[in-house]
Amino acid sequence: MEKDCMFCKIAHKIVPSSVVYEDDDVIAFLDISQTTKGHTLVISKEHYDNFLNTPQEVMHKVMDVAQRIGQAQMLMLGAKGVNILSNVNKEAGQSVYHFHVHVIPRYLASEGFEISMKENPDAKSLSLPALASTIKKGL
Ligand code: AMP
Ligand code: ZN
Repeated sequence: MEKDCMFCKIAHKIVPSSVVYEDDDVIAFLDISQTTKGHTLVISKEHYDNFLNTPQEVMHKVMDVAQRIGQAQMLMLGAKGVNILSNVNKEAGQSVYHFHVHVIPRYLASEGFEISMKENPDAKSLSLPALASTIKKGL
C-alpha cells in the first residue's frame, strides 16, 4: 500500500466509498464526481501506477469486472451506452496515479461526459505504414 494514495486508502477501507463490487484482487466503487449517474471506478487492490504498468493477470481481472459493471449499468440503470476509459499519465488526463478503469454509463449523447476525436490537421502528411511499423517494433 502507498501511504499517500487515495485509491489504496479506499481499497483498504481507510477512506469510505460506495462499493459496487469487491473480491480479493479488485474493488469497484462509485466515482465521487458522478459524471453521469452510476459512474463507477474499477481498481486493483494492489497499487500500480496505471494501466500500462499493471501486470497482465491483474489487469485482466480489473477489465472483467469493468465489463460486468457496464452490463449491470445497462440492465439496472437504463443506460443506453457505456464508455470504458483508463487514463495514463497527466497528458491523458490521469489525476490519481493508481490503476483504475472508469465505467461511465451513457443516457444521452449530450450529457456531462464527452470524448471528441478530432481529425488531426497533419493526418495527410503522416505515413500510416511507417507509423504502424514503428509501433510494431515495440510489441
Ligand atoms: P483520473 O482523472 O482518470 O485519474 O480519475 C480519477 C477519478 O477519481 C476522478 O474521476 C475523481 O472524481 C475520482 N475520485 C477522486 N477521489 C475520489 C474518492 N475519494 N472517491 C471516489 N472517487 C474519487
Ligand atoms: Zn494506490
